[in-house]
Formats: sequence, structure tokens, C-alpha cells
Amino acid sequence: MSYYLEAVGLTKKFDDVVALRDAQIRVERGNALVLLGPSGCGKTTLLRIVAGLDVPDEGSVVVAGETLTASDTHIAPEYRRIGMVFQDWALFPHMSVARNVAFGLSKAEVEAGRVDEALEMVGLSGYGTRYPGALSGGQAQRVALARALAPRPQVMLFDEPFSNLDSELRGKVRSEVAALMREVGMTSVFVTHDQEEAFVLGDTVAVMREGRILQTDTPAGIYSSPVSSWVASFVGEANIVPGDAGGGSIATAVGSLPAANGLRGSCSAVIRPEHLLVSSGGDGTISSVEFYGHDSTYRVALNDATYTVRVASAPNFQPGDMVSISYAGPAVVAFPETQS
Ligand code: ATP
Repeated sequence: MSYYLEAVGLTKKFDDVVALRDAQIRVERGNALVLLGPSGCGKTTLLRIVAGLDVPDEGSVVVAGETLTASDTHIAPEYRRIGMVFQDWALFPHMSVARNVAFGLSKAEVEAGRVDEALEMVGLSGYGTRYPGALSGGQAQRVALARALAPRPQVMLFDEPFSNLDSELRGKVRSEVAALMREVGMTSVFVTHDQEEAFVLGDTVAVMREGRILQTDTPAGIYSSPVSSWVASFVGEANIVPGDAGGGSIATAVGSLPAANGLRGSCSAVIRPEHLLVSSGGDGTISSVEFYGHDSTYRVALNDATYTVRVASAPNFQPGDMVSISYAGPAVVAFPETQS
């Protein structure tokens, strides 16, 4: 398979900080990849290398068959045809919407109607004469998006683009941006540390930690088949439960679980909270109850461990109730106990 964007073998040190260690991303044309990882894991550095704003110590970046970065090549950012949107989506306040969008365009491109074309793409036709101060937060973001799209980039890069928005606007703008990128067939890379955001935006998600890409897969693939306990816990909630694996099942404190891999011996099994059930009577104690409207979460203390259980209903139990926990879900992924 050939990829539209391929960045491989990326290593980058800042003095003695290793920001990237042999990292690689591959994105098919028209797809969105999300780099997901905790603060400081190297997401922004990777994005900046793709944009040409940073030069890696090792590795290469190829877009649409053209090598942009390699040991002997560095195409300057302005010649890469890569659009970049940052956290603040900053617009020039003293320029009209149209002039903001025209900012990076040549005279010929402006004359060819690129400004109107880009404003139409983001649903803001007719807003060209307004000033940024007269726009809502969501509209300002769409103007910034139009400005990035106007030069017809081959790839769009987004660095934590929604993190400054309040939660209501955030969900809306993020869905709009994802839909628009799909509609125009844009190849894009988003950076976020928010798992929910990564799953909403990404056709594929690359999970990063300490400069390495640990796993790249579809959101569903990462959620159901994480490559380590750490990845399992980082993408959504997980109960990491000690067990004894053998013969296709894993013996645990919550019963015998079907095993997804052929591990034998002591292991850590990954159990998603929505795959556990609670029923009255047993050795477990409900230690807390959280009701979210659409579902509820119990924490259950059992044999010196605490289990998180999610049910798709209002809570039926209260703190202090004695319960038992059972498993009702797909085959369980497990790791040798020493692995994290
Ligand atoms: P965040 O989510 O907090 O933005 P990140 O995953 O984007 O983090 P990077 O900004 O890529 O992480 O940083 C990776 C590591 O490299 C960090 O330890 C950071 O301190 C370091 N780093 C990044 N840029 C520089 C620089 N210009 N000089 C020195 N160290 C740097």
C-alpha cells in the first residue's frame, strides 16, 4: 500500500531530551490520523517536522510521493503545501474576514476567487466584509479554517485545535471540522491528548508515549485490542485485573474470562467497565456511585481491589450495598504481568 503522507524513522533530540524515538506515521489519502498521547510525548514535535518547522536528527517525510524531509533534503515550510492550524486559530483583528483568508494567497489566486471558494467551503459565504470582532467563536474558527484551506494544501495539520473552546462549542466545532475534512477529501493529522476527541476525529489513531508510537489502528481496534495495559488505560477506562491464564480462559476475581490471546500463567487482564455486571449479594461493596444521565458508574471494592463498572441505566445500588461482579463481554486481552 502506498500512503499519501508517510513520515518514518523520526528521531529528534533537544539537548538531552529525546522528543521522538524512531516514530512513524502513515496516512492514506483523504484520511484523518490523530496523534494521541500525554503532555510532552512528542506530538507537536512530530507535527512540526511534517510541516517543515523542525528538522529531525533522523528520518524522512514524504507527501504525495515527494520527499520533503530526509538526511539530504529539507523543503522549506512555505513550499510544502501543508496547512497548519494551531490552538488559538488567531485571526488578524484589524483585517476583514476576506483579507484574513487572502493572507497567504498570491494575487493570481485571489483574483481566481479562492477567498470566496474557501469561505463557501466553511459555510461563511457573504461574511467577507465582517471583522473578526463581529464573529462568534465558532465562526472565527471557521474563518481560520478557510484561511488554511484557501491555498489548497495537500495536507492539513491541527495542533490541539479545540482545546481553548468551552465544552459545548468544542463538540460542535470538532464535528464540523471532521465533516468538512471528509467532505473535501483532505488528508489530515490532528494532535490531541483527549481520547474522546481522538476517537471522534480519527480514521486511525496513533497512540504515543515518551517519543514513541506505541500503536496505530482504528479507534475500535485500539479500544478492543490495545497492545499494552498502558494503552488500554489511556484510551478509555480499563480495569487491569490480575489473573491466571491457560486453556483459552483467564481465572480472575470476577470469574473465568474468555481469553483473546493464547497467554499462559500470571497475567494482567484488561476489562472494560461496560463489560462488567453487578448483582445483589456477594463479597463486593459498592464504594461510590456516579450517575451521568445516559449511564452510571459504580466503584466496587472486592478482595483489596477496586473495580469500575458502567451500566447503561440509572443506578440501582447505593454505597455500602453488598454485590457480586460478573463478566459479560468479548474475549479479554491479557498481558504478561511484568509488562505495563
Ligand atoms: P503537549 O501536549 O504538552 O504540547 P507534546 O506531546 O506536543 O506535548 P512536544 O511539544 O513535542 O510534546 O515535546 C516533546 C518533548 O520535547 C518535551 O519534553 C519538550 O519539553 C521537549 N521540547 C519540545 N520542543 C523543544 C525545544 N524547542 N527545546 C527543548 N525541548 C523541547
